[in-house]
Amino acid sequence: MDKLIAIIGDIHSNLDALEVVLEDCRREGVTDYLCTGDVVGYGAQPHECLELVRSLGCPIVMGNHDHYVSSFQDLDDFNPAAAEVVEWTRGALSQEELEFLASLPFKSVNMGITLVHATLDNPSAFGYVFDHLQAEAHFVHQVTSLCFHGHTHCPMIYEKQLGAVYRIDAQDFKLPIGRKYFINVGSVGQPRDGDPRAAYALYDVKSRTVRFRRLEYDIASAQSKILEAGLPERLAARLEMGQ
Ligand code: ZN
Repeated sequence: MDKLIAIIGDIHSNLDALEVVLEDCRREGVTDYLCTGDVVGYGAQPHECLELVRSLGCPIVMGNHDHYVSSFQDLDDFNPAAAEVVEWTRGALSQEELEFLASLPFKSVNMGITLVHATLDNPSAFGYVFDHLQAEAHFVHQVTSLCFHGHTHCPMIYEKQLGAVYRIDAQDFKLPIGRKYFINVGSVGQPRDGDPRAAYALYDVKSRTVRFRRLEYDIASAQSKILEAGLPERLAARLEMGQ
């Protein structure tokens, strides 16, 4: 059977967005899922999101928020609002769920595709890839032709060909053979590219085509849950700005 892979990540405890994305996956005929991490953090439904993502039975890599919440590292270096959300999220998850998050790998290879939350250039340091120099540092470590990631919450394609790295702006993109691709799938639950719609990507293995998907979801519902939970107001406000 032909594989259609959905790559989802940076869900950030936003169940309203996640449900809409998974409905779209079913409509599109997705056969496999990959998760680039940050299932939790920021939003009000970490338990529900984790349960739903685990029910997909798919590979998941460790996001920085998954790590902060489950590692019980001390939060002195965090700004107070960020520390508050980490503490709140720890309290909303069971011991078993925290252990599950703590067990996630920093990178993985499945179906010949590499998965990492931020960059393969020291994956547990969670550096940001916003330009081609940072992408170059990543490509040194990428052995498969295709690697998906998230972390910046901005969809993006980097291509490496004949030693040079290029950024490609495309919505639907057929991957030529013989080059390497490092593709940011954007964020399901907290997009930051100015478009507030939920983002994820589809990869059709046979045609080697990547499609970026954007979907409207009930932002007001996600916002009211954040406010009801007593989480910082800014986390609700930014959802409608896509920042
Ligand atoms: Zn994130």
